Amino acid sequence: MAATSHASIKSGDGVSSLAGRWPLLGQRRPLVVYLCAIVALDLAAIMVFAVNTAFRWHELAMFGALMACGAVCIEATRRLGMPAGVSRDLLSAWWLPVALLLPPLYALFAPIVLQVLLQVRVRATVLYRRVFSSAAIGLAGCTASVTFHWFVEDPWALSRGSGPPIFYAVVAAVLFTLLNTALIAIAAHMADPDGAWREVLWDRESLLLDIVELCLGITVSIGCGLNLALLILALPPVVLLQRSLLHAQLQAAARTDAKTGLLNAAAWQREADTEIVRARRTGDTLALLIIDIDHFKRVNDAYGHLVGDQVLVGVASTMRGQLRDYDVLGRFGGEEFVVLLPGADMREARQVAERLRIRISHMAIPVDDTLIRVTISAGVALMSVHGDDLIDLLAAADLALYRAKELGRDRVCLPAVQPPPQRPLASDADS
Ligand code: GH3
Ligand code: MG
Ligand code: MG
Repeated sequence: MAATSHASIKSGDGVSSLAGRWPLLGQRRPLVVYLCAIVALDLAAIMVFAVNTAFRWHELAMFGALMACGAVCIEATRRLGMPAGVSRDLLSAWWLPVALLLPPLYALFAPIVLQVLLQVRVRATVLYRRVFSSAAIGLAGCTASVTFHWFVEDPWALSRGSGPPIFYAVVAAVLFTLLNTALIAIAAHMADPDGAWREVLWDRESLLLDIVELCLGITVSIGCGLNLALLILALPPVVLLQRSLLHAQLQAAARTDAKTGLLNAAAWQREADTEIVRARRTGDTLALLIIDIDHFKRVNDAYGHLVGDQVLVGVASTMRGQLRDYDVLGRFGGEEFVVLLPGADMREARQVAERLRIRISHMAIPVDDTLIRVTISAGVALMSVHGDDLIDLLAAADLALYRAKELGRDRVCLPAVQPPPQRPLASDADS
């Protein structure tokens, strides 16, 4: 599930302590209603299908075997850990055969078994996320199962290789993916209404993964319909794929700051270094900004750290929305951000910094009945003028930031050029 970074956590009353013990209560009301509705729908479906399903030993055995494969997959990748937020795995390789070959009730149960295992063995995350994930995957699997069984009377026909059952298996698998993605994207969007739909729905990478999952799921279904023992052959490649997938996600997570989703300091420095080397080679201009939230300690002191974190997330996403794709934005630490502007000259860099300053001063974070507003100060440094490498540029921009703070905050400043210029370079808030 997506990080619930814009959670409207109330502070200063009993609700905040309740929200501490029950994180769900700290979320936005529409999100809470939505999550509860999906879980209720899932429970209702379990009850309806439980009454109408006859238990057969061979189906129970297949369910057990597929869940055992899922468990082996989880155990084999457990030590790698799991990235926070929305993460991807290949467990559909086991969910899809459950949905296609067994009655819909099993599709509702399968995610519960594996989510319990993930919670106990991999990462103990907030419980409501696990419950919601189980319900969303369960409902998607159940819908896929009902659809497939509607068109294909004998699901074991899938393993005989004739066209129509395979076609309907693909349709059911696509439905499973669409529904699951939509249910989770709606929750992610409700948790962070400012985030772009595109980010929570699909990118090229996750589309590719969906196709891989679909192919794996159908291949495993055909295999275990032929002979349950064939699962032993399917297990090693799925485990290997799952490991490399997790590895790639963890590598990406190691580059990002978990709170704001921006590059962390180390990753930003690496990218900034690359850009500086390129600019030096091509002779292009390049500017660097250091941005610091003014009097941020007061926000923490007045509203608490959780609200302070919401402000950090708000500032980060406002800045990201104002910059070009190739500008390099990172969280340098605490309430300090850094931006590298390839191709920008002094005029452009100041314009960008001013735009960020104005946008952030207009931003309002709702908490209880009040709106929190913050301002920023920024220091600007230009390559070849204030320094030739990253260290020099950072030092120059930091000096400029210091000037901005000294001159009263909420402004953009340049470093004092050596020897000191005749006319002041500081641009105050009104310039
Ligand atoms: P100035 O205008 O001079 O920058 O004042 P300031 O209060 O912003 O600066 P100061 O360095 O005194 O305080 C920074 C505060 O930022 C103190 C620290 O608790 C807070 N802070 C740092 N990282 C985080 C974080 O991740 N979350 C929250 N909520 N607060 C943080
Ligand atoms: Mg500050
Ligand atoms: Mg600071």
